[in-house]
Amino acid sequence: MLKELKQEVYESLMELPKNRLVTMHSGTVSGRDPKTGHIVIKPTGFRYDLLTPNDLLVMDSKGNILEGTLRPSSDTATHLYLYEHRPDINGIVHTHSPYACIFAVLGRPIPAVMTSAALLGGEVPIGEYAAVGGEDIGSEIVAKIGNNAAIIMKNHGVYTMASTVWQATIDAVEVEDLAKIAHFAMLHGAPNVLTDEQISEFQNIYQTRYGQKPSEG
Ligand SMILES: [Zn+2]
Repeated sequence: MLKELKQEVYESLMELPKNRLVTMHSGTVSGRDPKTGHIVIKPTGFRYDLLTPNDLLVMDSKGNILEGTLRPSSDTATHLYLYEHRPDINGIVHTHSPYACIFAVLGRPIPAVMTSAALLGGEVPIGEYAAVGGEDIGSEIVAKIGNNAAIIMKNHGVYTMASTVWQATIDAVEVEDLAKIAHFAMLHGAPNVLTDEQISEFQNIYQTRYGQKPSEG
């Protein structure tokens, strides 16, 4: 069931340890199939190096397991809430990536110190602390993320969401790179921050000129 989506979620999961966004069991990736609304998600407490696409769970939009024998991610309720309230997204990545978490424990947004921040929608907003396991994290994210692709949750970690699983994965890497640069820059003083005008100018250039046209592969 949903073989292609499972492969995409699996490949995204493999990027997390490779890019040092997770250690041991932490972090989750999920994807939604736009046709059926079914969700593919990582099993809880499972080693990345032992994971295969067949270990991923398939569930319906209410969280009823349709395929898979392992227990789903402990963060499943958050993902279900986000998919229900944001029909525009089909991929979610959650990590405790360390540089972003420096800002999470300080309770500060990650400032837009690089053009890469423009691709995330500007500075990365901060959400209030919320308990894991229920809908509290999801409702706080929906309330605070706005049009941004990412949010950091106080004393917890990072959530990125996008129209595809792969884009949410790219965004999770970008958030950590941005946080790392901002963190070290702030040790030297107050970094320059992009203006709203510079952010929208960069977004326009990126949308029209970056990447390959579909016909070029
Ligand atoms: Zn977490």
